[in-house]
Amino acid sequence: MGHLKLHIPGPVEVSEKTFRAFCQPMVGHRSQSYKDLVAKIQPQLQQLLATRRLVYLATSSAWGVMEGAIRNLVAKKVLNCMCGAFSDKWCDVARRCGKDAEALQVDWGSPIRAEAVDQKLATGQFDALTLIHNETSTGVMSPLAEIAALKKKYPDVMFIVDAVSSMTAVPIKFDELGIDVLLAGTQKAFALPPGFAVFTCSAAALARAATIRDRGYYFDFLEFQKNAEQNMTPSTPSIAHTYALSSKLDEFFAEGLEQRFARHRRTNQMTRDWAAKHGFTLFPETGSESLTLCCVNNGAKAGGRVVEVPKLQQLTKEQGFLIDGGYGKIKGKTFRISNMGDETEATMNQLLSALDQAMGQL
Ligand SMILES: *Cc1c(COP(=O)(O)O)cnc(C)c1O
Repeated sequence: MGHLKLHIPGPVEVSEKTFRAFCQPMVGHRSQSYKDLVAKIQPQLQQLLATRRLVYLATSSAWGVMEGAIRNLVAKKVLNCMCGAFSDKWCDVARRCGKDAEALQVDWGSPIRAEAVDQKLATGQFDALTLIHNETSTGVMSPLAEIAALKKKYPDVMFIVDAVSSMTAVPIKFDELGIDVLLAGTQKAFALPPGFAVFTCSAAALARAATIRDRGYYFDFLEFQKNAEQNMTPSTPSIAHTYALSSKLDEFFAEGLEQRFARHRRTNQMTRDWAAKHGFTLFPETGSESLTLCCVNNGAKAGGRVVEVPKLQQLTKEQGFLIDGGYGKIKGKTFRISNMGDETEATMNQLLSALDQAMGQL
């Protein structure tokens, strides 16, 4: 079978152009050429995240930095805001790192609300919290700005935010939010191959890290800062990813960030409209739907037509497209369609007509 176009919520489809950028000849990672490359992309990354802090490049999937943030910043106890598979897992990961961790669990489909976070932090037990901006497993986007506003009330709590499936698709202004860590893997909305992550830290986060023992080496935030000051990384990075990231950033700014955000809103709306046209409801609570993917109920909840998700996936696959069949405990009860990355009205129309046809064959 030929290539299946990826409309799963990560990894997403990578363009030919990005692959060509990825496949350039290697240079030494301590060479002037590499430093020049990082010096070129650093201001672009800072503009993307609206920050004056340095943005770091990590050669790992997002989880590397997610775990690293725990190791670098938690001394007392971490509050894990949990509303789906990835955010639930972060609590488990914190405990595996030997940290004291407490869950703020809400039902899957619900967002994390600032009031609930406030109540927990008011106990004074916590020196860090983890939050996933866009919970990819449930298609729920939590109100990041409202939650981040609590930082003013709890300045000693480290606010660690995963924006893996929202960064580059919706505006996230790091300095304005006042949070401490913002991270993303590159295989979601960046539309780069998997295996690379970008993140940034507040000065307070670096100060906290300096007080913490057993930070390890590979994800030591102080090492990242020290090396980034020289346009380098602590260890040999995926240089291919750095080339591809540079190419991608040029594309972002050629399109314009605002235009990029607006395009994601439009392509997401197209998916929502498609779901509504077929009588499907969305899994997230109304008002908390993601802008980068749709997590669609299979119909059972609405009491209407119920589709067998594996069949829908198979029929879609036969037309060359891969969609996701639901994650974890909502596998089969939901399916997910991504509009992240390079997708346009034209490419979404191709997918949605394939889905229409699949629906007709069910
Ligand atoms: C995909 C995803 C992750 C995990 O990323 P890896 O690259 O597999 O480490 C974490 N958080 C969110 C929100 C994700 O969508």
